Formats: sequence, C-alpha cells, structure tokens
Amino acid sequence: MNSGFADRKYILNIDLSSYSYSVEERDDLSEQIGGTGLAVELMKENLKPSADPLSEENVIVFAIGPFTPAYPLASKTVAMFKSPLTGNLGESHAGGRSATSIANAGYDAIVIRGRSEKPVYIVVDNERVHFRDARVLWGIEDSLITGRIIAEREKGRGIRSIMRIGGAGERLVRFAGVMTETYRHFGRLGLGAVFGSKKLKAIVIIGRGSREPLDAKKYREVYDEIFRIATTSDAMKKYHLIGTPVNVAPLNELRALPTRNLESGFFEMTEEISGEAFAENNLARRIACNHCPTACIHIAALKEVYEDEPYFFKTIMISYDYELIYSLGSMLGVGERDGILKLIHRVETYGLDAMSTGVVLSWATEALKKRVITEKDTIIPLDFGDYKGYLKAIDYIYLQPNEFYRNLALGVEKAAEIYGGEEYALSFGGNEMAGYHTGEAAYIGYLIGLRHSHLDNAGYSIDQKLRERLPPEELIDLLVKEEIWRQILSSLVVCFFARGVYTPEVVSKAFEPFGVEISEEELIKRGERIYREKLKLKTNLGYRADKLRIPEKIFNIESFRGKLNKNYISEALSYYRRKYLSI
Ligand code: SF4
Repeated sequence: MNSGFADRKYILNIDLSSYSYSVEERDDLSEQIGGTGLAVELMKENLKPSADPLSEENVIVFAIGPFTPAYPLASKTVAMFKSPLTGNLGESHAGGRSATSIANAGYDAIVIRGRSEKPVYIVVDNERVHFRDARVLWGIEDSLITGRIIAEREKGRGIRSIMRIGGAGERLVRFAGVMTETYRHFGRLGLGAVFGSKKLKAIVIIGRGSREPLDAKKYREVYDEIFRIATTSDAMKKYHLIGTPVNVAPLNELRALPTRNLESGFFEMTEEISGEAFAENNLARRIACNHCPTACIHIAALKEVYEDEPYFFKTIMISYDYELIYSLGSMLGVGERDGILKLIHRVETYGLDAMSTGVVLSWATEALKKRVITEKDTIIPLDFGDYKGYLKAIDYIYLQPNEFYRNLALGVEKAAEIYGGEEYALSFGGNEMAGYHTGEAAYIGYLIGLRHSHLDNAGYSIDQKLRERLPPEELIDLLVKEEIWRQILSSLVVCFFARGVYTPEVVSKAFEPFGVEISEEELIKRGERIYREKLKLKTNLGYRADKLRIPEKIFNIESFRGKLNKNYISEALSYYRRKYLSI
C-alpha cells in the first residue's frame, strides 16, 4: 500500500467508539501532497466545526509526506486536531520514528474518531489494528514508564513508534502533549488532552513494508545531492555540534531572550545556561530522528545522588533544546543547569508542553508578586530563580489540587481571564509564546501564524536579518510568503531545520525519480492553496483575527531596536486582515 508519490492516498480510519477500523484508497487527494495539506482536507471532511475539543466529536489526523522515508530529514509527522487550549485549529509536528513507521505500515494518514468507553491503546501493525485494554496503564503519570511497559508488551522493536501520553494528558491539562519514542513530542496546543479525553493512552505503529522508486539511478543522484547539502552545510553542522541551544547566548546579546516573564530580554546568568555550557558540562550524547544525518537532539546526563547515601546515585538522560532552556530557564529566572534539567525532566514525565508550562508559571509568579493571586492559590511561594518551587508547582499543574491549579491547567490566556493580569499573560492566539523578543516581526508572526507558533513564518528570524523596519505591508507579505512555502515543507513533511536544503528547485527534482513532475511554480501555487484552505478551516472553527489580544507588556521592554511600536503592529495587522481575510 502507501502510495507515497503516486496519485492514490491510503487513509486508515479508526473509530474508538465502535473499536473498528477501515482503509480508504483515495484518488482525489493527490493535490494535497501529504502532511499538512492532506491533514487539512481530512479535518474538513471529518470535523464538525462546533465540536467540543474534548468530546468524542473531535478528530485527530496524523499525516506523513511523500518523501518519507525516501529522503534524509523527511522525518516528521503532522498531527492535526481541534485544540483544547485555543478552541481552534491544532497542529503539531514531531520527529522520532513515527513518520517512517506510518509510511512502512502502508498509510499516508491515520484518522482517529470517537471516544473509547475504557482506557485503551491502539496497535497498528501494517494492515491490522488492535485495540488493547489499557486500564492497568491508566493512572501511570510517567510517560517514560508507560512507553517502557508498552515496549515490553508489543512486537516490532526497531520498526515501531510508540506515541503516548503521561498523567497531564489523562487529567486534561490543556497544554499536555504526546511523547513519541523517548525524546520527541507533539508538544504544542494540547494533543495530549485530546488523547486523554478519548481515553487513548497510546498508539503503537509497526511498519513492516518498504517501497521502491521508479527510477533508481535518478533517485540515487538526487538522494546523494540532498545528503551532501545536508551534511556539509554550516547551518546543519551548527545544529549537530551545539544544537538549538547555540542560540541562547546570541539572543541574550541582542536583548531578545525573554527573562522573568519578559521583565527583560537579557538574562544575567546566560553564561551558565548557554548551549556551549550545556555541551561542555552536561552533554552525554546526540541522537537523531529516523533517517536524519544531522542528529540535533542533545541529551544531557543528570546525576541524582540519593540523600542518605552519597555514593548511590542514578543517572537520568534528558533531552534539552533552546525553547526548553528559555521557557524553564530564563523565563523563570533559573540560572542553574541542573535546575533546568530537573524541570525539563518533570515536564517530560507528566507529558506537558514545556513552553506553555514555563509561560503559565512565569505569569503566576508575576501575578503573585502583584497580589493578583495569593499564596492560598499557589499553595507554595513562587519566586523567580527558585527551581525547587517550580518543580512542586509542575506537580500541582498535573494534580490540580485546588481551583487555582485547575484554572492554570487551562493555559495562561484562560487563567488571566479569570484572575486578571492579562497585560502580562504572554500568549498569542491563545498559545503561550516562544522564546524570541526580537522585534515586531516575531510578535506579528505569532499573531498571524496559523498555529500561532514561531515556526509558522519565522518572524524572529526576519527581525534579526533586517537592518531597518520594513513598511508594515511589506513585512506582512514577507511573513505570509514564508508561511506559504512552509505549507509545502509541512506537507512533504521535512524538518524545518532542513529548509535551506529543500529549496523549491531541490523539491521539484526530488519528485522526479518517482514519476511525478511538479514545477517550482506549481509547488508555490499548491502552497498558496493549502494556506488558503487552512485559513478557511481556522475561520470556520471561529478564528477572529480582529479579536487577537496583544499583551501590553511586550511594549514595555527594550528590544535590540528599541521599544516595540504599537502603531506599526496595528497597521500591519489591519493590512493583513484586509488583504488575506477581507475584514
Ligand atoms: S535535524 Fe533534528 S529535529 Fe530535524 S530531523 Fe534531524 S534530528 Fe530530527
């Protein structure tokens, strides 16, 4: 099965309410390419716009691209769903082995509907689907242990992917994620809570198949070219050596590293938590997603000594990257590497999104300082820099022992609506911010990006490249142009770190050995169509670009270009609405 490049797409439909499944062969979906493009179409077909994200009406789509597993760095899977965090479109991408397993199991996409009566996990073993009783796994809060137990019980070692939730997903924390393998995540926008609401603890995908190119000689040539660019480019080398934390020090220099709930863009303890410091002192090994020669995933070894036996210790392996160091480090004022690693480990254990967790806790800390909430709410004192307090607070986000933590588990947007402090609740489109206070382009990018993610259109990168502010109209067109091309990368589904490798020319060439002719112009046209369709879907789900909230705090602190200009942002947004949304 699995068409990959051909006209036919194979869709596995799974219904949790009836414990049934079926496979559709679809000739009408080839225009969508795969990944995001395919997922948007499947969401349009299957999701009722009014569906409650935590009800059986919500739908989850996993979709892979036509280059999986044929080419290097085509390593990601797209997950699409209605987000319980924003109430709108949810899209999250993860690497690991999931994409290869789905491709080799014979599918282009998997659609999951309904809700199970009792906890289950699903095993997709090529053409067969099994519904396993997960009652004994339900209640295990540790996503790592859940993964280990399932790995022991199921076949397919080396060719399978295990996507599962921790306790945060079971308890419907709206920013709970889904872990895949040990160090990759569908982190953003609450897919873990959607799993939890469906009583779905995990999905195991075992892929036993393979597929051949039509023109093996041509395939070899294109493959070698992609491989050569991927392994010799400076950008990819940087990701391998230090990983994304290489950005900690330069962003701090630029006054762009959000610190203490954006009290500043400069963290005075950066030397201690830079990518270089982690690499020199903590790095134990690097690993890669399937079929990736870059291996950007950096794993630290954390030695934890038992209190009463100083010569007894356990070593925990913890994956770290820039966003985690920002959200659980500088944003919380934590300048100890071991403290940050412990926070990352705790978040990973429960299966929480690290960025959202850091932002809700930094908001709570400021709200406590400003007496918008009290210690009766937080149960413990929260202080910037005190990682031990934050470890406890993360336990409380998972356990939700009182009304305050139940509200905090809804995300910072909702918590601030309830308690106040909206001016320093740092979410955009309902999604907690990423770690870039680089200038207007970053924030406009979060606001108009269809996932409200820094990865939608890389506004933070535009800020750093431009010497001067562009006219607002030009900036919007540039951001949308970038987002349109990223629809193609997300439909293929290649890792965004390889965006310099997969240029329109290379993408067009990479299709040829599989008998598909698609020009660079045609690729852009398809990107535009996918962007439009995704925007339409988002609008049908209730997206109102004229109601986007901008936290006042972003205007109070300096960026490397001075303070942000409110009028500029408002002109840019109004042009965006007129041109792209006709409002
Ligand atoms: S560069 Fe990193 S995130 Fe991207 S595919 Fe490779 S290992 Fe995965």
